[in-house]
Parts: sequence; structure tokens; C-alpha cells
Amino acid sequence: MKNKIKIGIDLDDTIVSFYKEFINFCKERYEVELDALALSKDFFNSFGSKEKTKRVLKEFVDEGKHYESNVFKDFKKVFNDLERKFQIYFITSRSYDLRGRTKKFLEAELGRENLNINYIHDYPEKTKSFFCKKEGINILIDDHIPNIIEASSKGIKVFVFDQPWNRDIKEGENIIRVKNWEEVLEKLN
Ligand SMILES: [Mg+2]
Repeated sequence: MKNKIKIGIDLDDTIVSFYKEFINFCKERYEVELDALALSKDFFNSFGSKEKTKRVLKEFVDEGKHYESNVFKDFKKVFNDLERKFQIYFITSRSYDLRGRTKKFLEAELGRENLNINYIHDYPEKTKSFFCKKEGINILIDDHIPNIIEASSKGIKVFVFDQPWNRDIKEGENIIRVKNWEEVLEKLN
């Protein structure tokens, strides 16, 4: 079998809605208005303090209702095509305690077993580029500015999944903006 090109795909806010759901949760539960831009810059201090943010995040995650209901529709639509043409590595910075659930949820949503889900905290450098280099992945799709800057500076082509918090990032040699998953597929082809 011909070797497929490897691609790395982030989870939160690239294929699964996270900030929006977390903002809704905080508003409903605590009547606190959070802002996605602020979350993207300093998530763990977004709810007053680090301890408090962690506690609220744990509630949000434990209840699961919002957290595990939103794989982007356009991703589901192109997933078969993507899988046929590319070797897919999901790459996330989610914490250890979420592993079992992340796997179960994604496999149910995407109708597959044994998805290739990787956790950057398993590696000494804890960066997406470290994992990509190790596995020979030259393309990463991500929404988070630090990841985009870090990986593109190491020579990885980064598809910036368009979100309000990453619009300051300009296109460049290794930076390509995409507004949805149909466009990712088109540009990959
Ligand atoms: Mg993300």
C-alpha cells in the first residue's frame, strides 16, 4: 500500500466546539460573561483565578452535556474522504483524566474504533511540533495561536482553522487560513 501523507488535527475548537460551549455554561450556571478572545489568551485565569477556573472547567467537563455533543458537522462530512487520503493523527493538549472519555466520545461521533489520538503531555517538550517531527507529520490543522506560531516556525505547514481569536495571524509561507473543513480538504488536495 502506498504511504499516505500524514496530517495532524487538533481537537478543541478545530473539530469540537469548546470555548463557545464553555462560555454558555458559565453564563447559564454562574451568570458570568466570558469572552472567547480572553479565553484564548489566558484560559486558566479567565474565571477570576486559576483555582476557580479549574473548578468550573471540571464541572463543565464532568457534566459532559455540552462538552461531548459537538463535533463540527463539516468535519463529520469530510472525515471519510480525509481518512481515505491521509493518515490522520489527532493531537491534543487535553489532560490525562480526559483520555478515556475523549476516545469514547470521538469514536462514537465519528463511527470508528481505534482512532489515533495523541496527547502532547506524554512527551518531554509538550509541543505539537515535537510530536509532529517525531512522527514525520508535516501538516497540522489548529486554531490556537501559540501552537500555530510554534509549529509553523519549525517548518510544519499549519492550516489555521479560522476562529475569532486567531484572526491576527497573517498567512505566510507555512501558514494557511481555512474557514471550514471543506476548505481544508480542498487545500490539502
Ligand atoms: Mg484547539
